[in-house]
Amino acid sequence: MNSHETNVTRQTFDNVMVPTYAPSDMVPVRGSGLEVWDQAGKHYLDFTAGIAVTNLGHAHPALIAALGDQAHILWHVGNGYTNEPVLRLAQAITEATFADRAFFCNSGAEANEAAFKLARKYAHTQFGPHKSRIISCTHSFHGRTLFTVSVGGQPKYTEGFEPLPPEIAHIPFNDIDAARATIDDDVCAVVVEPVQGEGGVIPARREYLQALRDCCDKTGALLIFDEVQCGVGRTGFLYAYMGYGVTPDVLTSAKALGNGYPVAAMLTTHAIGNVLTPATHGTTFGGNPLAATVALKVLETINTPQFLARVQQAATVLTTMLENLVRDYPQVLSHVRGSGLLLGIVLAPAYLGRAKEISRAAEAQGLMLLIAGPDVLRFAPALIVSDAQIEEANQLCRRTLDGFLTG
Ligand SMILES: *Cc1c(COP(=O)(O)O)cnc(C)c1O
Repeated sequence: MNSHETNVTRQTFDNVMVPTYAPSDMVPVRGSGLEVWDQAGKHYLDFTAGIAVTNLGHAHPALIAALGDQAHILWHVGNGYTNEPVLRLAQAITEATFADRAFFCNSGAEANEAAFKLARKYAHTQFGPHKSRIISCTHSFHGRTLFTVSVGGQPKYTEGFEPLPPEIAHIPFNDIDAARATIDDDVCAVVVEPVQGEGGVIPARREYLQALRDCCDKTGALLIFDEVQCGVGRTGFLYAYMGYGVTPDVLTSAKALGNGYPVAAMLTTHAIGNVLTPATHGTTFGGNPLAATVALKVLETINTPQFLARVQQAATVLTTMLENLVRDYPQVLSHVRGSGLLLGIVLAPAYLGRAKEISRAAEAQGLMLLIAGPDVLRFAPALIVSDAQIEEANQLCRRTLDGFLTG
């Protein structure tokens, strides 16, 4: 028997996986667009997009074709060589953004790790070793490597992993006074998510991002936007900074960049990127031909005026749907927040702490939903979501909440 034919179930996870996750009882086996089927053949409408990853839906034909074609051509050459797909991707992504240069890697954490190392190196060479402090926001999330998790603003994720890297400080998100008081000449980088994802789906105010920009200009610190979750079309702009009209020095992108194929990018300017000279940083798989081919196809598909206009239209439809839910279920739901197709419903006081329970109940009804902390239901469907699918989600949410209120 081939190993892929042995019987595996959700129980197998508990037997042989390191228990870093507590996954659902159902195991998805197949997907198409926003539809998913589990091992039992049960059907789900997917409003998670694999945590804002499958922005073009499951099994997108153009991505299957691109990956399949490249699989017959060239998989890997190593960093002693460059390759055509990565050069095409770098050209396209720098043309589409503020950036002049790209560094490719495999995950959001790795892109942020590169950004923080770049900021340290840049400050070290331009100003000297004293300029080393990194400022980040409370409730932020930047990944799980020791450096990125320490920069992240959620202490529960660093507990037990001490000693942590030094010279990192946290300020309250969206607090301009705190930013001005904290960002001084010893700061090498300020990192912020334009829309906090894991922290509860909270958009930055435009004036806040502009204030961070001004503080960085004054002190010579680099402004880093972590767009790992809110990038690649999610807000109705290719990158959220474009909607805000505030340009960072460094931008990190991952999650949806490969629609599920692992690929990430750190984008920056010539002047800053040039300090990472040969052998100062790297990664074996970063920018391999398979990943680069998929990412280029994703970028070409999403970065058109028509596609992004439809995302904004769908976002309006979904926002209205969620606001009507809040209106009709005020005992359970408090208010809607977010940006584009990254939206959250904050639970009402009586239901705080029960987001996971509600998302599991929705799943039982056939709707896959995310949470963002214990108090927020997160809606992040693929960007190709139709109005009919939003209405279907509406019906499933109502059935879930009706059951919740009577059950
Ligand atoms: C998911 C996420 C990361 C980490 O990305 P990984 O690919 O899991 O390493 C970093 N920043 C933000 C904003 C994220 O949402």
